[in-house]
Amino acid sequence: MKCCVEGCERDAHYKAAQLCQMHYFRQRWYGTTETVKRGKAKPKPYEPKTHAKHERSNSVAITCNGKTLTAAEWVREPGVTVSRAGLIWRLRQGWETSRALFQQGRFA
Ligand SMILES: [Zn+2]
Repeated sequence: MKCCVEGCERDAHYKAAQLCQMHYFRQRWYGTTETVKRGKAKPKPYEPKTHAKHERSNSVAITCNGKTLTAAEWVREPGVTVSRAGLIWRLRQGWETSRALFQQGRFA
């Protein structure tokens, strides 16, 4: 037995209703076998931005004292007084990693 909906070639899963699975559920949830384009469909859940992941994407991993963090993460570590931009600048200048992280003041 086929689904009773016109143009639907699926087998009627629900014999009593003469509907295929798709149309049966559409009928149950929406009260119609027509395609529902708006209304009860749930909006996409809001995804809170996970800062760590996003910062990672355009950042280089820096390893120091057995820890690997991004520049943005390192500047939040205790003892690190340099800014993210400052840290990147220091590393570009060829500073040693531990000095770039923990050295106080811009020049030394
Ligand atoms: Zn159907």
